[in-house]
Amino acid sequence: MSENTPAAPVPSDFIRDIVTEDLRTGKHAAIVTRFPPEPNGYLHIGHAKSICLNFGLARENAGRCNLRMDDTNPTKEDTEYVDSIQADVAWLIDGWADDRLGLKAPGDVSGSGVRLPAAVGKPLEPFFASDYFEQIYAFAEELIRRGKAYVCDLTAEQMAEFRGSPERPGKPSPWRDRGVEESLDLFRRMRKGEFPDGARTLRSKIDMASPNIHLRDPALFRIRHAHHHRTGDAWCLYPMYDYAHPISDYLEGITHSICTLEFEIHRPFYDWVLQSLDLPRALPRQIEFARLNLGYTVMSKRKLLQLVEERLVTGWDDPRMPTISGFRRRGVRPEALRAFAAAIGVTKFNGLTEVSVLETCIRDDLNRGAERRLAVLRPIRVVLTNIAEGETHWFDAVNNPEDPSAGTRRIPFTREVFIDADDFMEVPPPKYFRLRPGGEVRLKYACIITCNEVVKDAEGGVVELRCTADLETRTGGANAAKKVKGTIHWVSAAHAVDAEVRLYDRLFTEEEPEAGGRDFKSVLNPASLEVLSVKLEPSLKDAKPTDRFQFERLGYFALDVAYTPTGRLPATIPFVFNRVISLKDGWVKELKKG
Ligand code: ATP
Ligand code: MG
Repeated sequence: MSENTPAAPVPSDFIRDIVTEDLRTGKHAAIVTRFPPEPNGYLHIGHAKSICLNFGLARENAGRCNLRMDDTNPTKEDTEYVDSIQADVAWLIDGWADDRLGLKAPGDVSGSGVRLPAAVGKPLEPFFASDYFEQIYAFAEELIRRGKAYVCDLTAEQMAEFRGSPERPGKPSPWRDRGVEESLDLFRRMRKGEFPDGARTLRSKIDMASPNIHLRDPALFRIRHAHHHRTGDAWCLYPMYDYAHPISDYLEGITHSICTLEFEIHRPFYDWVLQSLDLPRALPRQIEFARLNLGYTVMSKRKLLQLVEERLVTGWDDPRMPTISGFRRRGVRPEALRAFAAAIGVTKFNGLTEVSVLETCIRDDLNRGAERRLAVLRPIRVVLTNIAEGETHWFDAVNNPEDPSAGTRRIPFTREVFIDADDFMEVPPPKYFRLRPGGEVRLKYACIITCNEVVKDAEGGVVELRCTADLETRTGGANAAKKVKGTIHWVSAAHAVDAEVRLYDRLFTEEEPEAGGRDFKSVLNPASLEVLSVKLEPSLKDAKPTDRFQFERLGYFALDVAYTPTGRLPATIPFVFNRVISLKDGWVKELKKG
C-alpha cells in the first residue's frame, strides 16, 4: 500500500516537558530511556503505549532506547517470550525508528565496568537484566558493608506480619542488628546454595515505622533453587524486582526511567537503592504515567495466558487478542498503533479508553492506502439469462478513490455472477433499495440488472436468481445515465477465487469484563469469530501478506499471515483473509444509499 501517511505532529505531555527541560539545562547531554518487559508473556497494546513513549522520546531527542528483558524471576520466564517480545517491538517501531534506536553500542555502554555483548548487526538486540546478576549481587554486598542491608531469618509469613499495615507501624526483625560480618558470611552461603528456599532473605535496612510500607526494610534477594532461562543453574539467589530495576537502569546509563502509576509509591525505594551506593555517575529518575485500560478486553499477561492455556483463543496471536502479535496477524499496521498511542497521549490519570478510539485509528490508517476490491461473503448465484455462455465483458474498477495514482484494474463480467445474500430480499421492508423480485439494482462498475425469477430448493431456500442485464447502462452505454437507488458488489462466478474469510468481533460482551469482581471468562463473546467460505474477484489471487484491501461495502481485509499459500491450510483453500476492521461509517452511508 502507498506510504502517503502524513507525518504526525510531535506530541507534547508532562514527560516530554521534563525531558526537554533536562536537555535545555544540560542536566543530561543526551537521554536514554528503556522499555523493560518481563518475558513472562506476549506484549499487549498497553505495552505498545509504553514502547511508543520510550522509543518516541529517544527518537524525538536523538537519544537511545534500550529494550531490556526484565528477567529476574526464573519461574515464569521463557525464551519463547523473549523472542516474541523482540519481534513485536521491532515490528511496532519498524520504519519509525532511525538507526540510533535500540542499537546497542558494542562493549561497555554504561561506563560502569559491566561488559555488555557487542551488537551483532541486528537492531534492537535486547539487554537482559540477568546479565547484571553478578553486579546486582556485588552491590548487595556493598549495602551490607555500609550497614544498609542484613540477612533476615524470618519466614515470609512472619515478615508480612512484622511489616504491619499503612495504619500500623511495623515491628523490627530480631535479625535487624545482626553484625555486618555475620550478614556477609550468611549472604555468601546463601549464594552457595547452603539453605533451602525461603530460609533466609537479604533485606534493606530503612525504616520499619515509615508510613510508606515499601520502605519497611523491603527484601533485596530471595533464595530460589530454580532454573533460569538464560543463566541456567548458576544462581539459587534471585534479586527482587524493586531492587534489580534501579540498578539495571543505572548500569545502562538510563536518564529517564518511565513506568506506570502503581510504581509511584515504590519510587522512594528506587531512589534509596541508588543513593545508598554512592554511585559516581548521574542517577536515573523514575517518572510514572497512567497505564492504558481499554474497553472490551483484558490486558494483564496473567489473564491473557489463561485465555491461551484454556484454549479460549487459538494462541497469543489470535486476531481477537489485544496482543501486538494478535493485531499484526489480524492485519493492523504498526502505523495505526502508533497513531493510537499519540491519540491517547500520556497523563497521570487512570481511566478507561474507549475501544472506538483504537478502531478509528485502524480505520483511518487503512482508508488512506488500502485498494478497493470486490468480494462476496455469503454468495448467491445470479444467472443473467440474456448473456451468452462464454461471453465476457471487462469493466474498469477504480483502485482507490482516495488516491488517483492507484489507478484502475479490469474486472470480468459473465453470465453467472455472485452477489451477497444480504443484498437480496424476497419480501423486503420499506426503503430496501437492493435486489427484490421484479426489482432493479446496479452492479458496481458494471450495469443494471433486473430480477425476473427466484429459483428455490425443496425447503424453500433461494438457490439462484434469474435476471437480465442491461448492458446499455454501463459506463459509455446509451443508457449510462439511468439511475437506480441501489448499488451492490458482485463477482463473476467463472473467475471467482475461493477463499476463507474470518470476521472478528470483540472478545468480550462487556466493556469492563471484570467490573464488580466478575470472572472475565464468564463474559466471553460467543460470536467473536465467524468463518465464511467466500468468492473473491480474480485479482486477489496475487495478494501479498503486506497488502491491505477494502472489500467494498464490507470492511478492510488482509491475508492471514499464518495461512498464506505455504501456510497451515489444506491446499484446497488457498487463502484466508482476516477482516481487520469493519467500515462502520461506510456501512451507514451505503445502507442509506442502497
Ligand atoms: P501485565 O500486568 O500486563 O503483566 P506488566 O506491567 O507486569 O504488565 P511488564 O512486562 O512489567 O508488564 O511491562 C513492561 C513495561 O510496560 C512496564 O514499564 C510497564 O509499566 C509497561 N506497561 C505494562 N502494561 C501497561 C499498560 N497497560 N499501559 C501502559 N504501560 C504498560
Ligand atoms: Mg510485571
